[in-house]
Formats: sequence, C-alpha cells, structure tokens
Amino acid sequence: MRGPGVRDNASGLIGLIEAARALKAMKVSPPGDIWLLATAQEEIGLFGARKFLDDHAGQVARFVAVDGELGEVSHGATGIVWLKVHFLAEGGHTLQSAAAPSAVRAAARAIDAIYDIGVPASPEQRASWLSVSTIGGGDAVNAMARDAWFTVDLRSNSPKLLEKLEADVRAAAGLAARRTRVGVAIEELLRMPGASLPGHEGSAFVRLALECQAAAGWPSPRASLLGTADHNRALERGIPGISVGVTTGAAIHTPQESASIQALPTGIAALALLMASLPSEP
Ligand SMILES: [Zn+2]
Repeated sequence: MRGPGVRDNASGLIGLIEAARALKAMKVSPPGDIWLLATAQEEIGLFGARKFLDDHAGQVARFVAVDGELGEVSHGATGIVWLKVHFLAEGGHTLQSAAAPSAVRAAARAIDAIYDIGVPASPEQRASWLSVSTIGGGDAVNAMARDAWFTVDLRSNSPKLLEKLEADVRAAAGLAARRTRVGVAIEELLRMPGASLPGHEGSAFVRLALECQAAAGWPSPRASLLGTADHNRALERGIPGISVGVTTGAAIHTPQESASIQALPTGIAALALLMASLPSEP
C-alpha cells in the first residue's frame, strides 16, 4: 500500500480498531480496563497524548502507543528540540548589495557549520539525529533578504548530549551572524524532554510486548531505546510506556510512503495478544 501516512500512522489506527474488534469477536475480556485512544497532533508535538495524560495520568498504569515498525518495541523517549533560526539584515535593492551584509549568506554559513557538528549514530544510549529541515526567506528576487531562516530538527537518546548539540547549533548560528555582520534570532518551536525509566527495558511489560510479537509469528522482535511517539508523554511522567507497530513500511514522511499489507495481520494479532494479556494491577 502506498501513500502519505499509510504506515505512519494510518496503520496504527487500523491496528487499534482491528485488534479490539478481534478480541470482541472472540469474546476475550482483558484482565484490566483498556482505553482505546486515537490521538490528534502526534506529528507536531504529541499534543493529543499530552492532553489525555494531563487529564488522566493518575488512572493510567501503562501506556501503549500503536506506532512505529512491527518487530520493534520502543521503551524510551528520545528528546526532541525544534529551532527556527532567523538571520536579520536591513535588506535593500540588489544594487546596494556590495557593501551590505547578507542574511542569506549568514544562513548558508550557519547551515554548513551545523552539518559539521558531530552527531553520533551509536551507541544507542547516545544516538542522535540532526536535520536542517526547512528553509526560506527574502521578499523578492531583486532585493536583499531582510530575514533568511531555516529550521533544525534535533533529536537524541541522551538528554545531556541533546543539551550540548543544541548549544553547538546556537553557537554556530551566533558565529555565522557575527562573521557576516547580521542579526540573529532563534525561536524555539518545540521542546520534548527525553526520558527513560530505570529497569523498564528488562521489565515484564516490555518482555510481554516482545513475546506477543514473537507468538504472533514475527521473527526476532527487538527492544529499542529510540522513541518518538505518543508513549514519550507517558515516560516523561514516569508511567511505563512503549510503542509497538503493527506493520512495516518505507519512505516514512514522504509522498512515496508505503506500508506492508502482508505484515499487518501479524501485527494486529500481536497487538490483540498484548491487549488480552496486560495485567490489571499496576
Ligand atoms: Zn511520523
């Protein structure tokens, strides 16, 4: 199946509904109360899950986000910072450009320097990601830009390293502005703290989720610290949270996104098993 959002996260919503339908059809009543929650605004900051937990955190013993790739059980919350970096100048006609500092040049210098920041891919506890994701600025082809901007999507499994990487990005922007003699202003678009619960990786909850995927027929499911889904909002409150996918996909967050229909029944069966086996006590 192909189309934007088919895997991330139409498949999760399908899995949620179909797993519940399967349990109902088989007259299975899970030991604990299960709230089925379809959240809004996951991609722009997990705001739906945050609102739900603001209202109900005290009533939630465990949180399962149905999201991500089948075969991976995420038990961590990766920290995320989104920044919008503006370079500000006087602007003016191109014919005045010889003497005037260029905001666009400052942005270019900053982006180049930001990509030179070392971002480790391993070990998992320090794995980090950095992308200059959008870019814009200027008013007209024949005028110097008064505002040249770009956004940075910065993520790390290590809260300490995330802090350092953010400081490096801010320093690179500051240096580019000074070298180019333009102003700089940095907007914070989003800040989601990272979190991991001590002992959570080896807990009965995470093991159960892995066993359910294996029992449903998925070969060698694995636990992963990388987590950027609704369960982050549970983990940041100290509530055990995981994320499990119900199928596999490719080209996520692009118009060519795809999801496997073949894998979906396995993922739904694994989720139904998990719902049927989650204990009622905390
Ligand atoms: Zn996504």
